[in-house]
Amino acid sequence: MDSVAWLKKLIGFDTTSRSSNMDLINHVANYLENQGLSPWLSLNAQGNKANLFVTLPAADGQTNGGIVLSGHTDVVPVDGQQWLSDPFVADIRDQRLYGRGSSDMKGFIACVLAAVPAMLSTKLTKPLHIALSYDEEIGCLGAPVMLAELAKRDLQPQYCIVGEPTSMQMVIAHKGIHTFCCEVHGKNAHSSLTPQGVNAIEYAAKLIVFINQLAQQLQSRADLDHAFDVPFATVSTGMIRGGTAINIVPEYCAFEFDYRNLPHMTVAELIQPIKDYIQKEILPAMQAVAPEAKVELTHHVQVPALNDAANAKLHELVMHLVDDKQRSKVAYATEGGQFQNSGIQTVVCGPGSISVAHKANEFIELAQLNRCDRFLGELIKSHRS
Ligand SMILES: [Zn+2]
Repeated sequence: MDSVAWLKKLIGFDTTSRSSNMDLINHVANYLENQGLSPWLSLNAQGNKANLFVTLPAADGQTNGGIVLSGHTDVVPVDGQQWLSDPFVADIRDQRLYGRGSSDMKGFIACVLAAVPAMLSTKLTKPLHIALSYDEEIGCLGAPVMLAELAKRDLQPQYCIVGEPTSMQMVIAHKGIHTFCCEVHGKNAHSSLTPQGVNAIEYAAKLIVFINQLAQQLQSRADLDHAFDVPFATVSTGMIRGGTAINIVPEYCAFEFDYRNLPHMTVAELIQPIKDYIQKEILPAMQAVAPEAKVELTHHVQVPALNDAANAKLHELVMHLVDDKQRSKVAYATEGGQFQNSGIQTVVCGPGSISVAHKANEFIELAQLNRCDRFLGELIKSHRS
């Protein structure tokens, strides 16, 4: 089956993140087993979603080292979008293949699966690995489960190419995403008796203003990276809820904020000042009225950034395989940082365009699939003994 046929097949599985991806995973696992390979799965806690990992050993039987070709199997919902064709039935019009996940990122997976026979008929100097994950679109939840299992099995690949849509350009770094929920627990009172209450909304507001001041400071640091279109780390409060009625001092308010850090910046450098402010300024004032008052800060999404440092060898290898010699740094995040944190040098490079991802009438140019087929063909050749 060629990459177009594979992509049609993969789009036919509705793998929206809220649903199971097992049908797709089982189909691919069967295919790989029929090729004589031994894929293994790692499941989520509920057992209804799986990552798939398979190693194509080197000619001498070696399974360590080599390159991982990585893609996520889940796609974003199509709810409320106006599609001209069924999003889960691939439709080819004007040299473009339309369907949910065509660019993000079943196109890359299709090219990789179509290349398996060529990989198998080549005497490889190094192993090749294929990694398919679940729940990337809802916070990169699947990849860490797979990477933990990889470590348990003592498998240590050297490199990883994450095939997110980059129009086949090499992306060498991306920002991280960290989201936090801050819950302020005050004390209610009748609004005519404010001194007896602890107004959770007002304390939350103080915290939001403080966090915004930190965000402003991030913009004027000396260590900005102008290779990113937004050259500084960003912080934004995006959700807030609290209060029950206008005449009740609210006892509860929760807000959520997101932090997009530059690769060299840590989570602690944002969060520690917030924790200090809560301890020194917020809690003493709240607890002077109600000793039980408290503030809880929870770290939700944790997607590490992809750093370009120490990846020179992989950059050189991939640079030979792409036509466009740019090395970009992007604002969106991938599983790349997670692979990197497991000691696997990583870049992002795949067919299709990020600009059509997550939208109605998502498509991939057939030429992009073709370009990725060639890329993988050259990659296999570079591993030929
Ligand atoms: Zn994606």
